[in-house]
Amino acid sequence: MIELINIGRDFLVGEQTVHALDDINLSIDAGEYISIMGPSGSGKSTLLNLLGLLDSATSGTYLLNQQDVTVLPDDRQAATRSKTIGFVFQAFHLIPRLTAAENIALPLLLAGTVPELRLSLVSKAVSEMGLTDRAHHTPDQLSGGQRQRVAIARATIMQPKILLADEPTGNLDQKSGQDVIDILEQLNLQGITVIIVTHDVNIGQRATRQIKMVDGRIESDQRSSKTGAANENID
Ligand code: ADP
Ligand code: MG
Repeated sequence: MIELINIGRDFLVGEQTVHALDDINLSIDAGEYISIMGPSGSGKSTLLNLLGLLDSATSGTYLLNQQDVTVLPDDRQAATRSKTIGFVFQAFHLIPRLTAAENIALPLLLAGTVPELRLSLVSKAVSEMGLTDRAHHTPDQLSGGQRQRVAIARATIMQPKILLADEPTGNLDQKSGQDVIDILEQLNLQGITVIIVTHDVNIGQRATRQIKMVDGRIESDQRSSKTGAANENID
């Protein structure tokens, strides 16, 4: 589903070139549950942004469902992103003036979904995320955990195949963080490919594939069959 071939991403900072990603090769199959860990500055967010078509590589090729997205014009990239990819951020990135329900509805609004369908999808998502009594609150009236659940609902309302989460529990207490991970794992069990960047070893180890980054490179890439959501549900 995802294939990165010799991907590089350089940033020019003053006179210096920073190699944020350095010759990354990576294949990801549909339905995988992947964690990306590594020290601050190792390129985790750059990699996730690139996978999410929020940024483009300086060199190399990115194939998404066999299509070379590195050469797609911006509008086609945006269309592919909205159909295929959901993104969740550490700082939630909700729109402050909009209610929870309106934030969740935004991608549908942008996609021109008819109002009846929009309302029914939003109310389903609101109830699935346990936000029924918070639907008409604005983000500043919500807890961190509730904000992140709104963000996850917004990221999945278009039924993406891939969900990318950049330190989604970084601003949350233990309990809310666990709730967010439970939701992401539930989505993975429904078939969505989940890729999560985290500093939390306990969270990272739950994934069935664990990637470690150092200095813009993939230092290790391990699969385990004994951890993660899928295995807990076997018995
Ligand atoms: P991580 O998420 O692992 O902490 P990042 O992907 O954010 O790391 O950053 C990787 C490297 O690229 C760092 O050295 C960072 O300073 C640099 N970098 C990231 N984004 C930019 C940018 N927009 N401009 C300049 N340098 C950047
Ligand atoms: Mg980061």
